[in-house]
Order: sequence, then structure tokens, then C-alpha cells
Amino acid sequence: MAIKLHDSLTRETRELQPAQPDGIFRFYNCGPTVYAAAHIGNFRTFVVNDLLRRLLEIEFGKDKVKHVRNLTDVDDKTIRRSREEHRPLAEVTRQWTEKFHADCAALNCLPPHVEPAATMHIPEQIDMISILEKKGHAYRTEDGSVYFKVSSYGDYGHLSRVKERELKQSSAFAAKPQTHDADEKEDGSDFALWKGHKPEDGDVSWPSPWGQGRPGWHIECSAMSKKHLGETIDLHTGGVDLLFPHHENEIAQSQCCNGTTFARHWYHSEHLLVDGKKMSKSLGNLYTLDDLKAKGFGPMALRYALLAGHPRKQLNFTLDSLHAAESALKHLRAFRAAVSERSSGGNDAGSEDPFAPVFAALHDDLNTPAAFGALFTIVNRGAANISTSAFDRVLFALGLDLTEPVAPKIEIPADIAALAEKRWAAKQAKDFAAADALRKDLAAAGWSMLDRKDGYSLEPAKK
Ligand code: AMP
Ligand code: ZN
Repeated sequence: MAIKLHDSLTRETRELQPAQPDGIFRFYNCGPTVYAAAHIGNFRTFVVNDLLRRLLEIEFGKDKVKHVRNLTDVDDKTIRRSREEHRPLAEVTRQWTEKFHADCAALNCLPPHVEPAATMHIPEQIDMISILEKKGHAYRTEDGSVYFKVSSYGDYGHLSRVKERELKQSSAFAAKPQTHDADEKEDGSDFALWKGHKPEDGDVSWPSPWGQGRPGWHIECSAMSKKHLGETIDLHTGGVDLLFPHHENEIAQSQCCNGTTFARHWYHSEHLLVDGKKMSKSLGNLYTLDDLKAKGFGPMALRYALLAGHPRKQLNFTLDSLHAAESALKHLRAFRAAVSERSSGGNDAGSEDPFAPVFAALHDDLNTPAAFGALFTIVNRGAANISTSAFDRVLFALGLDLTEPVAPKIEIPADIAALAEKRWAAKQAKDFAAADALRKDLAAAGWSMLDRKDGYSLEPAKK
């Protein structure tokens, strides 16, 4: 059963197929910027890509998928962090790379086959920039930078449908500044391939034909993708915010440099919102995996909650959705136990896969809500005629590890429980002033109360 996936370039849902005669499916997923702990929005994107990786392995074979996910370990943010902390860039990025790996493992994401770091691919990036310069697609500026000349590439803007007119007016750029690297450029739409050294960069620079400097953000993915997967890849993915300008610029650089199609298929998953809003530190709604662990939730509950919404729709995360995920996992664990009690082990070869509807939904543009719906229809029918091996194949595809220890329940001190009861009673009695005052007392004691329609839960307050 072929995997069909929405293609952001053609806006069609198309079958995934490897192009090369070796049958290896070449898959590049833009990776994290390693300057802080990744937040749960980042992990929505990485978990969705992990689901894709697993389906590709099932479809084409474990050794027929090459998955590359880079580390952005040099850019404005990483450099700023290293300066603020008076620590070498490599030390800062190593710390956050390790944290990222630990969180990915906890979320049961398979490691990519290659995880190239931008700083380890400076010569490859310089090579590409030199070719672009020779071909007339790039120009130098006085400060030792090199820019890509967008007007030199007639096909610019196909992915994001940014019209040249709009580019000229720079309105698109004004509305969406380049978040990773702020550029100074002649034409509003041109972007930096190489950035001449500035005092703020401290000791972060490499020699190049244009003097000391560092690569721009976009060129790193073009260069690492070419090095590890070749000039044409089968699939390139990332969160929807990367579509423009990052991926548009990658296409321009790669196609002008290599003279051939860069990626045959583009996939962008949508963002995670928290409590209906974009996550931000200032709103206090930015969660990391550790924040959720501190509230007593296990990583598998987060994985489940992140997969529960359709990947191409925005997903609103709430702590309630984690409670729901925990209860779904509890059902799946009970079902797994019932299946293994009945099943002799599971030589079910030849018989029809009872979970075929789950796979059909996943293969249909990663329709995870339909897949979970189909899964629970089967689970609710009971364990008869289900083999452990068939169920384990579904669990593998979804990446759900049911052996993860159930998160320890948080001990709530009696006085806190009493305060919470009092507050709930006040709220039910519509005495909102008293309820607010009690909420403040709870907060002062380090607890936050999460109200639901039918009750509440108590959690240690976020720091
Ligand atoms: P970054 O570390 O900023 O380079 O982002 C890593 C990945 O996370 C990229 O694919 C982004 O598109 C994605 N991303 C960033 N914010 C969110 C969000 N709120 N929801 C889902 N994905 C996100
Ligand atoms: Zn990228």
C-alpha cells in the first residue's frame, strides 16, 4: 500500500517513491537549532517526521530509507547564547544537542541515519557558494558577505507562491523577517549565503575566498543534503514556518548550483499552539518535555497527544489533552496485555491484517486522527483473533512504547488539597473573588489548579 503525502510544491497528494535505481528513499528533515531545549512545538514536527520515517521503513524496508536530519549549530541565536553565557559556541551547542537527543529518545523517535552539523560542513557550503558566484547567481558586498541574487533565478517563489512583484515590494519579507539570521542586503529579497565577520560574532568565523566569516542559514541544508543524499532527494520536510523563506531559498540555491531538481516532494506539518496561542516565553505557555515531566506526565503521553491531531492542521495543546492521552495509553496497555494472554505469540502470516484500516489512514496523508479512530474501534471490539505481532506492528508504526513506566503520581500535601477543595467550592458557588484569592494562595505555595468542566487537577506550578 503506497504512502500518499501532501506535496507543498504541487499542492497535490502524491505517492512517495524512491527515484534512484538503488531503491533507497532519500529523506531530509530540517533539524533543530541547538541553543536551548526544544519545545513541544518543535517536537510535534519531529514526532510527525518520525512517524513518516517509520512508515517509510515499513513500506520500503529498513535498509532502503536514508533519513538525514541536520543540526543548526551556528546562526544568530546560537552565537548570541554563547556570548551571553561566555562559553565557546561548540560547548553550548553540544549541551543542547545532547539534551535534544535525550528528549528524542524519551519520545521514542528513531535517530536519523546521518545527523550532520553545519559547522562540520563549512567546505561544502563554501563550494556551493563559489559555484553560485561563478554562475552569476551571487554577488559580494563590501563587508565580505555574499548574497544570492533572487532576480537571477526565474523560478524563484514556486513553493511559497511569492510573486516577484511582492518580493520587489518586500512586503512578504517585511511581514515575515528572516528569523534565524538578520541580513543586510541590496535587494530586499536577496539573502545571505556567506556573512562577513562582524564584531558580534566574536571568535566564530572561518576563512573563505571572501575573507573570514560564517555561512548563512539556508545554505547549510542545501550543502548537507547534497553531501549526504545527492543532488536530488525524494522528500524534504519541516514545520510550516520553514516553507518561506528557508525552503524557497534552499530550492533556489540548490537548483542554480546543481542544475537539477532539488527535492521531488515537499512536506510541511502545521504548528502546535498552546492554549490557543502561539507559544512564547513571555506568555508563559512555552513547554519543554521537562516542564511536562515535572507535572507528572510521561513522554509517551506527549507523543500520543502530538500525534492525535492531523499533522496538516494546527493542533491546540492543553494539559487536558495529555490527560486524555494518558487514558488512551492505559487502554492500549490493557489491550496489549489481553492480546498477549490470548495470542500464542503471533504467527499470523497469511491472514489479513486486522489493523489494515489503521495503516490505510496513516498512508492517506498521515491521517492520524482517523488512524487512532480505527485503532480504538478494533481495541473496543476486544482481543479475540488479534495477535501480538499484528498489534506490535501498529505500535511500531505509531512509535508508541507501552512499556514506558507509568508516570509517578504526584503527592499532593493535605493542606494544598484542602485549599483546592475550598477554591473549587467557591467557584461552584460563583464566589469568584474568593476563588481568585484562593488560586493566588495556591500559586504562592507553588501549585496551579487546572479547571475542567467536571472537576480540576492540581499540578506543581511552572517555574
Ligand atoms: P528550529 O529549532 O527553530 O529550527 O525549529 C525546529 C523545527 O520545529 C522546525 O521544523 C520548525 O518548523 C518546527 N517548529 C517551530 N515551532 C513550532 C511549533 N510551534 N509547532 C510545530 N513545529 C514547530
Ligand atoms: Zn533546513
